[in-house]
Amino acid sequence: MYYDYGIIGGGPAGYTAAMLLAKKGKSVVLFEKNQIGGTCLNRGCIPTKALLHMSEVYRQTIESSNIGLDIEVKNFDFSKTASKRDLIVEKIRKSLELAVKNSGVNIIYATAEIVDDTTILADNVNYKIGKIIFAAGSKPRELEGLECDHEFILNSDDVLKITKLPKSVLIVGSGAIGIEWARIFSNFGVSVSLIEYAEHLLPSADIEVSKRIERIFKQQKVEFYLNTTIKNIDNKTVKLSNGMVKNPEVILSAAGRVPLSSNVNNITTIGDSCGEIQLAHFAIHQAQNLVEGIDFNKQLTPAVIYGEPEIAWVGLREQDCKDDCEKITLPITALGKSWCDNCTEGFIKLITKNNCILGAHIISKEASALIHEILIAMENKVSVNDLKKVCFAHPTYSEGIFEAICRL
Ligand SMILES: Cc1cc2nc3c(=O)[nH]c(=O)nc-3n(C[C@H](O)[C@H](O)[C@H](O)COP(=O)(O)OP(=O)(O)OC[C@H]3O[C@@H](n4cnc5c(N)ncnc54)[C@H](O)[C@@H]3O)c2cc1C
Repeated sequence: MYYDYGIIGGGPAGYTAAMLLAKKGKSVVLFEKNQIGGTCLNRGCIPTKALLHMSEVYRQTIESSNIGLDIEVKNFDFSKTASKRDLIVEKIRKSLELAVKNSGVNIIYATAEIVDDTTILADNVNYKIGKIIFAAGSKPRELEGLECDHEFILNSDDVLKITKLPKSVLIVGSGAIGIEWARIFSNFGVSVSLIEYAEHLLPSADIEVSKRIERIFKQQKVEFYLNTTIKNIDNKTVKLSNGMVKNPEVILSAAGRVPLSSNVNNITTIGDSCGEIQLAHFAIHQAQNLVEGIDFNKQLTPAVIYGEPEIAWVGLREQDCKDDCEKITLPITALGKSWCDNCTEGFIKLITKNNCILGAHIISKEASALIHEILIAMENKVSVNDLKKVCFAHPTYSEGIFEAICRL
């Protein structure tokens, strides 16, 4: 059996490359050992965002007395929330599978092994391949002394399998996964303690973003400890390096992900397996770059943390800036829309030099959309003066970008 291309891994990197290659008339076989859509669709981006949304609905319902609603929650069955999440994932998975198949890609649901640089073995069948692409993704990182037993110590895959909410959770790591799960649990009323080894929450963010998230968490009574690790765990009693003792019902280990590597050298690798930027949109763009040769600037890969308020950033951060940069921070309270929505927490911060935007850091409702407006300007080197010519609608969060550049 011969194919022009054999792709290992049906996540965003693999399925994007497969469909684009098929569109170009190439014969393509895609191997997936689990489910099409990969981590992103089945265990990552989509199920967590679906849960996050449902947790916000829960919290807003509980807090709705301030707009005059008198609601009594008689019962809450988290297993139904979990089923709804699974249904969303299943729907997307079905349409994705159909789209991949309709593009002419042959999907083989089996574990694939590279035999040599022109042969893939799957289900005892040898596939002869013109070119192999490795897109097998990554797996949760296990910290020493915090090995997952999948019951008390959970990783990001395990936590999506729970059908009953714990009373308390200790989350280890405050990257995107740790922050989003802290928000999900806290919205549902679970007592959350978050520990972070670094000096600030979200260590990869702009320092002002980290500090503001710390303030927001304090206001929301999400407990967190910085410069802190787990010292030891004895019979579900957790001693922290800061001397505190915790007895959580479960621990969620959210300490990043490790790339999976191929057993054969010099194989083209895309997506999380590269160990570069482990984000779905980065994986998709790598695939597009590989197949269509469309260049993209890795420095302009946006980061988004979901929940209320959203956090998004791209480009230069405060801690990377030299003295020749200009900075402007517009509080979200400056925008009428934020008052209408009762979402007044956050800011739009821009870092500029010579009339060009070099970095943007946003905490706001709709930050995930706003960041792309700035990103398009940055990618196309639209100057601050040119941006001022754009007529932003009122009342919107977008006009915050206009307000910010007018204050530069
Ligand atoms: C909880 C969580 C939340 C996340 N949220 C976001 C988010 O909001 N936004 C974002 O951009 N990113 C998010 N990510 C990261 C995102 O999921 C990954 O960056 C993305 O899935 C990487 O795509 P990929 O195709 O490289 O790998 P994957 O999606 O991991 O796909 C790899 C596929 O390869 C398959 N595979 C592995 N080995 C073999 C083999 N030998 N044979 C056959 N198949 C094999 C696997 O089963 C898997 O389906 C999140 C991740 C997690 C864990």
